[in-house]
Amino acid sequence: MECPKCAGDMKPIEYGTDIRVRRCSGCGGIYCDRQVLELMRAEWQVDAVLDTGSAVQGARNNEIRDIACPGCAATMRRIADEEQSHVTLDVCPACDGVFLDAGELSDLKSVTLMDHLRRLLAIFEK
Ligand SMILES: [Zn+2]
Ligand SMILES: [Zn+2]
Repeated sequence: MECPKCAGDMKPIEYGTDIRVRRCSGCGGIYCDRQVLELMRAEWQVDAVLDTGSAVQGARNNEIRDIACPGCAATMRRIADEEQSHVTLDVCPACDGVFLDAGELSDLKSVTLMDHLRRLLAIFEK
């Protein structure tokens, strides 16, 4: 599988029993199914193992738009993550594949102290 951002080779990687992704050996971008992304959100430390690419390179690659899905070649859409809206993901409208630039998985999983406080406040306001 070829990386849609840098044409590097996307190699399959497994983590635990359910998590299967492909990571680009060039830019460190990660491609996976949407369900796998949801699993990774709940998995402790998965980002430290899988998201090993350069976040600087990832931020640069995040500006590359209208990439072709490496799974099915449909044009991927840029969508702001529901929980961490400052992170923009490339999501395939056809096959539910998701492309994360290097550093984005770590970013999604680093819930800040402010996020915790906001959630706490939301509970008290009910
Ligand atoms: Zn790449
Ligand atoms: Zn696709």
